[in-house]
Amino acid sequence: MSSFAALPIDAQKIRFDALISASGKCLEGVPGMGFVFIRSAVLKNCEGQSQSLAMDLYDQFNYMKQTGQWRFTPPTHVLVALSDAIDQFEEEGGQPARLKRYHSCYKTLITGMARLSFQSFLEPSIQAPIIVSFHAPAEACYDFQAFYVACRARGFILYPGKLTQLETFRVGCIGAIGAMEIEQALQAIALAMQDLGLLSWAPAAHLRPN
Ligand SMILES: *Cc1c(COP(=O)(O)O)cnc(C)c1O
Repeated sequence: MSSFAALPIDAQKIRFDALISASGKCLEGVPGMGFVFIRSAVLKNCEGQSQSLAMDLYDQFNYMKQTGQWRFTPPTHVLVALSDAIDQFEEEGGQPARLKRYHSCYKTLITGMARLSFQSFLEPSIQAPIIVSFHAPAEACYDFQAFYVACRARGFILYPGKLTQLETFRVGCIGAIGAMEIEQALQAIALAMQDLGLLSWAPAAHLRPN
């Protein structure tokens, strides 16, 4: 879903029934449209199974095949933007070039965050340069909402963490940005830490157990 067009996905090496992604992820179109690569046999079995009217993939596929039309008003501007985004994707050098740029963003992010004593949740060896979860500071003065508001005031939006057991937050590396924008985000994060009184916490507390 999140890494399509950046990480290599070879259907001959990794057998899958379906691959779903959206216009606004690594293809860098505007948000608004999802698409699916799916085995025809799997799709056939979906007939009459959807519990949703709007998201009925089989019905959409069938209707498109028979009439050349979307079942409902198509998001025309999203389609035009996606088509342009794919042109830009190819001009940039396709998947390898995109991965390279995201990797440069990721490197800049992880290095800068380490300077601010933030530790990523995953080991670097298994971390994709798409979205990075960081351990939240353990200090009592840390509060995600306040941290979020302080970053947002400087033009950057953080994602809340998704883990239930650990306090984390997430930073995205994808989108039409480069290392320069990541440096600006790091600056915003450092200033937000200053606002919360967080700049002096001990890095050792955030080191991984191993
Ligand atoms: C991005 C994402 C979504 C949301 O897709 P949009 O079409 O951009 O709203 C849903 N699920 C997962 C796992 C995602 O990564």
